[in-house]
Amino acid sequence: MENVRIAILIADANQARSEMADAPASAPILRSVEELAARPDCRGVLVDTLSREAAERAVRTMRVHPRLSTMPVFLRTTFDAPEVAAVDGAPASWGILARKAVDILDLLATLPPAEALDQDDALLRFLFSRPGTVIAPFQCYHCEKLYRYPLLEAFAQTQDDTFIWAGSLLGRGVLEPGRLVSRVRLCPSCGSAHLNYIDRCPNCKGIDIRQTFFLHCFTCGNVAPQEEYHREGALQCPKCASALRHIGADYDRALENYQCRSCRHICTEPEVVAMCLDCDIAAAPEDLEKLNIAELTLSEKGRLAVRSGNLQSIYAVLDQLNYVNPDYFARTLDWMLGLGLRYKETVFSLLQLRMDNLPEIVVALGRARAALLMETFAERLRRLIRTTDVSTRTAENAFLLLLPHTEGAKAEILRDRIRKLAEDVELPDKKPFQVSLRLYAFPRDYLKGETADLVFSRLATPDRERG
Ligand SMILES: [Zn+2]
Ligand SMILES: [Zn+2]
Ligand SMILES: [Zn+2]
Repeated sequence: MENVRIAILIADANQARSEMADAPASAPILRSVEELAARPDCRGVLVDTLSREAAERAVRTMRVHPRLSTMPVFLRTTFDAPEVAAVDGAPASWGILARKAVDILDLLATLPPAEALDQDDALLRFLFSRPGTVIAPFQCYHCEKLYRYPLLEAFAQTQDDTFIWAGSLLGRGVLEPGRLVSRVRLCPSCGSAHLNYIDRCPNCKGIDIRQTFFLHCFTCGNVAPQEEYHREGALQCPKCASALRHIGADYDRALENYQCRSCRHICTEPEVVAMCLDCDIAAAPEDLEKLNIAELTLSEKGRLAVRSGNLQSIYAVLDQLNYVNPDYFARTLDWMLGLGLRYKETVFSLLQLRMDNLPEIVVALGRARAALLMETFAERLRRLIRTTDVSTRTAENAFLLLLPHTEGAKAEILRDRIRKLAEDVELPDKKPFQVSLRLYAFPRDYLKGETADLVFSRLATPDRERG
């Protein structure tokens, strides 16, 4: 890619233009992000301003714009502020800037075309085209979670909780945590990290507690604060009047050393509670939610997801095979397990099919050919399945089939046929179409007390029986 057109965006009308020595005279001078969006010939932009706020505003507008979200964006100066995230630096010369833009655009050109990008796509494509980018957390004392991810905020369509968004991307495995920066504890009620830890009386919950030393009289067993034993410079028990001369022989120090000034309760340890400064709720420290604050990066799975595009539609062909939703499927299975325990003659089987390398296949073949391949496979699968069998999907690439009145040995025959079907799929370069098939037969594989959920997690855990 040569000679890409890069615009100069004057983001602040009151400022003189920067004079980058080698900037081409042909670079379009634009006044707003809207103007930039209307110029598909401009493939990158230099945001020309010395105002941090103006730069931040311009970059954010671009990153949530369906067409500008992955565009190379350069700054006149770095500002040295985390708020101005999701940019490609402040190159010293136009030559460096143009080269960087070409590198980014070259990587973006390897991705499947997309009309308008949603916030997930935009972020993942941005990370993909800027290898090595780290989504770094920044400490921020007035933020709800004490940390923020400015780069995620730049891409978030709404400024709702970017931590929830990060959690969902981590959960899907498209981002992975890197260096752990910190860990915060959150209010279980509102999620705020603004907590005040306060010790209080375990009896009346009052906070006016004092550390006091208590003495324990061996003669009568009296336990009382040390000052109550003082008699004319010596120690004497206020209850039995014995003289306390030798610690260990006449008396010792009691373990209890806190006393509540309100209810006089004595204790060894006050109770500690976390008071939420945002919602005013008191929570025990062990009930606080823990949140790891880590640097985030694009994972291998994320790179694959970006390169193969959204796979939902490709997997969805499997939903045509007597599909029921996962909840209904689980209820049916629970009902059949219950039936099986009552009536000894009940048999049924469960078959799980997982397509392990479909994302790689989509990258290798392209979406259209991969979709065709999946449709062909689903069609052959349909011919093997009876109308009484029901199916569901537990993960995007995991497909479950419930086979009523089918004992283990019969289900194994079906399993082997499906395996054969997968082996017959022809891919270029003799690549295999990798499927894992796992079988659960009732009552053969039943473990006492097992419910549908436990059966699902057993099938989802890889061990023996991998197909
Ligand atoms: Zn008290
Ligand atoms: Zn005494
Ligand atoms: Zn709270």
